[in-house]
Amino acid sequence: MIQSEHQRRAYLEALGIDVWLPRGQAEPEAEVLEATITADSLDWSELRAAVAACRRCRLHESRTQTVFGVGNPDADWMIVGEAPGAEEDRRGEPFVGRAGKLLDEMLRAVGHGRDSVFIANILKCRPPNNRDPQPDESNECRGYLERQIELIQPRIILAVGRIAAQLLLETDTPVGRLRGSRHQLGDTPLVVTYHPAYLLRSPSQKRKAWDDLCLAMRIATEVDA
Ligand code: URA
Repeated sequence: MIQSEHQRRAYLEALGIDVWLPRGQAEPEAEVLEATITADSLDWSELRAAVAACRRCRLHESRTQTVFGVGNPDADWMIVGEAPGAEEDRRGEPFVGRAGKLLDEMLRAVGHGRDSVFIANILKCRPPNNRDPQPDESNECRGYLERQIELIQPRIILAVGRIAAQLLLETDTPVGRLRGSRHQLGDTPLVVTYHPAYLLRSPSQKRKAWDDLCLAMRIATEVDA
């Protein structure tokens, strides 16, 4: 199936690719084009355009829009959550609901605002009814997040919640055991903490989340030295 001409053109234009076809020749199928272009060579604006035009998994059918991420592409801190929810899908920005407000407060407590970190998700599209990401969805989307990490080169990644932590670290260890220590994602240090939506339901765990933020802060400044 061929994706809309408008989307396809936007995607190719962003990549600087002109498609010239001999008169009368059939247009190449979008899947073939997408399969030949991987995220790992894209610059920031190409990556943004590729995400906006993505049809690599079924989630493109139900999304209102993709949610690329928000903040500073030169940030020291990168926050990675699970996937957009209903409000994020409507607004095109991650963490804008109640959980997002709590995330903002957590970041403020360590001296950061939305504009000084970069906030992204494992998935760029909302799963229907906020169900967990399916393995093929997170696999198809992973290249985008990996390229974001490569381009940003953060000093610390804060993985919030089980899905982000387990998918990034490729483990099924529970969050309660992953939090509280330093992990590595390639060359980048990574700290796991509870998802702010969980902290809204279990405020007694906020103390531990604060400890995780302090650990992340220590690691981020250690890299400075
Ligand atoms: N939860 C997430 O993990 N990400 C969002 O963007 C919103 C809620």
